[in-house]
Amino acid sequence: MKVLKFGGTSVGSAQRIKDVAALIVAAGERNIVVLSAMSGTTNTLIEISDYLYRKNPDGAGEIINRLEKKYADVIDELLSMEDYRAEAIEFLTDSFLYIRSLTKKLFTLFEEKEIVAIGELISSQLMLLYLKECGIQATLLPALDFMRIDKNAEPDAVYIKERLHELLLHEKPSYLYITQGFICRNAYGEVDNLLRGGSDYTASLIGAAVNAEEIQIWTDIDGMHNNDPRFVDGTTPVRHLHFEEAAELAYFGAKILHPTCILPAKLNNIPVRLLNTMQPNAPGTIISNKLEEGKIKAVAAKDGITAIKVKSGRMLLAYGFMRKIFEIFENHQTPVDMVTTSEVGVSLTIDSAKHLPDILDDLKKYGTVTVDEDMVIVCIVGDMAWNNVGFETQILNAVKDIPVRMISYGGSNFNISLLVQASDKKRTLQSLSNQLFKN
Ligand code: ADP
Ligand code: ASP
Ligand code: MG
Repeated sequence: MKVLKFGGTSVGSAQRIKDVAALIVAAGERNIVVLSAMSGTTNTLIEISDYLYRKNPDGAGEIINRLEKKYADVIDELLSMEDYRAEAIEFLTDSFLYIRSLTKKLFTLFEEKEIVAIGELISSQLMLLYLKECGIQATLLPALDFMRIDKNAEPDAVYIKERLHELLLHEKPSYLYITQGFICRNAYGEVDNLLRGGSDYTASLIGAAVNAEEIQIWTDIDGMHNNDPRFVDGTTPVRHLHFEEAAELAYFGAKILHPTCILPAKLNNIPVRLLNTMQPNAPGTIISNKLEEGKIKAVAAKDGITAIKVKSGRMLLAYGFMRKIFEIFENHQTPVDMVTTSEVGVSLTIDSAKHLPDILDDLKKYGTVTVDEDMVIVCIVGDMAWNNVGFETQILNAVKDIPVRMISYGGSNFNISLLVQASDKKRTLQSLSNQLFKN
């Protein structure tokens, strides 16, 4: 059994849904197919929610009408048999009636989560009906019946596995199974989600739960490129990545993968393949536990970083200083990404400035605090075990003309991170590509 996940662009139009249907049928029997919402839909649903938070149902209404019309057009082009068309239109009408009912009451996070789930519910229903029209036996595994997060918003792997097995046993054998990415229930049984881009995570959680032979992430590019193609010219696909390398790249901004999607695959040693829906025969990228020794693989960047430096004479020869500093971040539920230390101080970075004023107040008890906002972590990934030589020189050479606020290496064998100003992001990425991947 394989798990095949198709992202928003892959199912972004009636024609794309038809292309994906052909792909999943060709992929063989008894696979589980995870679908995202059609591209743009989740953003639109969030926009609708924003209007409703601001108590502007008229503003929301216009967008709702436009979105409904878009789906009506998709149904028109996708389905030709009357029964299936009627079923699709009924599903659409019910979904939009429900969205409109939410415009008439107090709007909270609960309603927002219900609204954003609708994108995946519609795309999966459309695919199911199209497959039926093509005579393919496909069964829906409703994500809201098996995908669950706990009180800490962490996936409940035991529950997911048990429920999925029950559902698969209960259903009569089917040629293939369709489910929704991204959406889940929380510990209270409410509709929730795995955060933006979370359909990749759904796929790997399912892969782990059914011990899949492979997890395939189908998207709009031919695999993980060696740098961010949105900012850098001349990037090329990386054919093999180690789980650790892929996890670092995903965490540090390679948008092609959700940050946490590698972990379940790695823990269960299930290869993850990144493939291109528009070029199904391109080899893509395979992510597994195989390591290409001594090779620098790729570069990624994580935006929206704040750097904080705490300088204190008291750190000199003292113990307990670090614990006190880190405790402050823990108390304010703010994860720390990068850390560098010197004899007299510590610099660290956070990617959420939500609790920054409180954190700064607390840190000031321990030293002089300075803050640099609008920073970017640039992460260089590959086999960089410390006894390999030369990779540091290459990386530093690439940034010789760029101001670097922090450098971090040694936390893992797989990455070096640099902290630069957001305004230097593009040239840092380009210069690293020129230096590291020219040949
Ligand atoms: P999907 O909707 O299929 O989940 P995403 O938009 O989430 O697709 O991810 C694919 C996009 O990720 C690509 O179109 C590309 O612009 C972007 N991307 C960023 N970094 C990389 C990278 N290193 N390699 C490939 N794609 C990347
Ligand atoms: N539809 C969701 C999003 O846009 C989930 C996903 O595409 O992975 O974030
Ligand atoms: Mg994605």
